[in-house]
Amino acid sequence: MDGFKDYPGGFWYGYHRDAHTSLIGVRENATEHRCFGNDEEVDDWIQAQPFAGSLSHNGRLALFAYPAQSNLNGRRLPLYWPGLLRSSWDSCHRKVYSLLDAAALVSTSPLDLSDASQAPDFTVFSFYKVFGYPDLGALIVRRDSSHTLSRRKYFGGGTVEMVTCMSENWHIKKQGSLHEQLEDGTLPFHSIITLGSAFDVHEKLFRSHDRISSHTSFLASRLYRDLSSLRHVNGLPVCTIYKDPSSSYEDSLTQGPIIALNLRNSNGRWISNAEVEKLAAIKNIQFRTGGLCNPGGVASFLHLAPWEMKRNFSAGQRCGNEDDILGGKPTGIIRLSLGAMSNMQDVAAFVQFVEEFFVDRQRCPEPTVNVSSSVIRNLYVESLNIYPIKSCGAWQVPSSLDWDLRPEGLAWDREWCLVHQGTQAALSQKRVPRMALIHPSLDLEGGVLRVRYAGQLPSLVPDEIVVPLSDDPSFFQDPTVQFSGMCSSRVCGDFVSAYAYTSSQTAAFFTAALSTPCTLVRLPPGPSSRRSKLHLQHPRHRTQPVTSSPEPPIPGAFPTPPPSPPTLDETPILLSNESPILTISRSSLNHLNQTITQRSPHAGPIPASVFRANIILAQSGPESDEIPYDEDSWTALRILPNKPLDSENPTPLTPTPALSAHTIELDVLAPCRRCQM
Ligand SMILES: *Cc1c(COP(=O)(O)O)cnc(C)c1O
Repeated sequence: MDGFKDYPGGFWYGYHRDAHTSLIGVRENATEHRCFGNDEEVDDWIQAQPFAGSLSHNGRLALFAYPAQSNLNGRRLPLYWPGLLRSSWDSCHRKVYSLLDAAALVSTSPLDLSDASQAPDFTVFSFYKVFGYPDLGALIVRRDSSHTLSRRKYFGGGTVEMVTCMSENWHIKKQGSLHEQLEDGTLPFHSIITLGSAFDVHEKLFRSHDRISSHTSFLASRLYRDLSSLRHVNGLPVCTIYKDPSSSYEDSLTQGPIIALNLRNSNGRWISNAEVEKLAAIKNIQFRTGGLCNPGGVASFLHLAPWEMKRNFSAGQRCGNEDDILGGKPTGIIRLSLGAMSNMQDVAAFVQFVEEFFVDRQRCPEPTVNVSSSVIRNLYVESLNIYPIKSCGAWQVPSSLDWDLRPEGLAWDREWCLVHQGTQAALSQKRVPRMALIHPSLDLEGGVLRVRYAGQLPSLVPDEIVVPLSDDPSFFQDPTVQFSGMCSSRVCGDFVSAYAYTSSQTAAFFTAALSTPCTLVRLPPGPSSRRSKLHLQHPRHRTQPVTSSPEPPIPGAFPTPPPSPPTLDETPILLSNESPILTISRSSLNHLNQTITQRSPHAGPIPASVFRANIILAQSGPESDEIPYDEDSWTALRILPNKPLDSENPTPLTPTPALSAHTIELDVLAPCRRCQM
């Protein structure tokens, strides 16, 4: 781009709506720019000669850029535009040069540039999209147009013959062939050497791009056909596929092997892509979701106006985050890409995945506004669970014990974690599933944490270790040795300080259990200002959900976050990620289990423990009276002092009961993000 930017008078830049973000960014270097909303606009613009009359590029150097294939949905754009543009060049040098972004196209299609009169002036693509490796890009310049790049001001070692600095600034740039004039600095020579092998191996494996093209087209047309025919029980389609009306999966000139889609349930509500992605990862299926670096395509397919995108940004939406349904609309897209190595099993696996998880065999209940939301419905705390070591097994608090509740969470919950000895990163169950087999239990009378491993351990390793609950400094590593006393461990993206134990037996136990060099660390004591006791004695605690402005909840759907995110600044966040306490509802779990048993009679009900909650809430009374997913609309939870429950006559909620020493108020922060566990 330097060549155009440094041209006297700058340059005019036109780009197609389907352009990749990398092409859109070029506009920031241009003097003027225009985005073409569709192919017809481009055709009309090229027809309307001379350019200068109808356009604002006023005889300046001009460049029109577009993708040969949309990286969003694989639509293939016309390749005749560069030739058409060139034939309309007039004698006054009002030329519009063409830049073809072939990055998405050439991974599954040949590109024929043999006719120089029709070829783009500039063609770019990335070798890694074709071969996987090396990470090199390519720029192919039509020789007759190369002079446009010669006005580049920048030089580096490699593009300059001689330079003086200090008292006099003078330099002579290299004049040789075009590539020599463009090769600033050291070339990625190892990658360039590898390129030869990449060509050879690719040819050995796949023979030709024509074969790849017909293979991938065939797969894509099957995938498209199968996905578009999926229906819910009420006949509504499951997949909303973003295909251009002008393209066809039966025609590789208009369509590449990519399918862009979103999923909806039988009520027509959008399903969160983050959740689809998590489930797919469990099934070993990989695809990309989100904005796909194609802002024009996403905005037009999802009907997102600029104000909505700005609103979503203000509401916290960022490239790559998980709150992907805002204002009832998806903010991103699922993209399925097929390549030379894809096969029919891959196609079948994805279709089966959607059938298994997203095709409703029964109609989802219509969401209703729940007027009884602010009335006690015999909710009680069924059990309290803590996870003394982050990502390891739960320990259920005996109901005879009073338990400390601190602003940062339940006492002893995620007080410890396991840290990799090499990287100092906290281990998580997502990466090390065997952590689930580590069972810590608190022996408060003995003053120790006991840890057992439920799997097989090597013979010399004891099957239980005992860690003192005391934070006596002598148990921890000497400040002047290793870690400088504290190891700065990364926990879920944040740096926290933790103390590592000196005991080599402790480290050996965990290392043997997980086959990963790791050790146990403890957090420094958290701010334990206001403490309240949570009694878990029978009769059970009654709880009251508090709802505000009940939006119609979608039963069982992953709910949208509460309207105004609470400020977390003052909440001490320890190893417990951003949520100090995780709660689940027995009623929702019962409903989920019913659904599972209906769909697959052989899959038994799943226990509450798989959700790794701290507080399990349940409703007393018959299961038919339970209200599943009611918690989706709660904004706070009040746990009342112990009183015998009068199940015949539940007390209605008093407007604002005073926060007595024994009443606990909890804010509902957000839906849980750990559920994939
Ligand atoms: C991947 C892609 C790019 C970006 O290429 P990089 O080499 O990853 O920067 C640009 N345009 C299209 C159409 C692409 O598919």
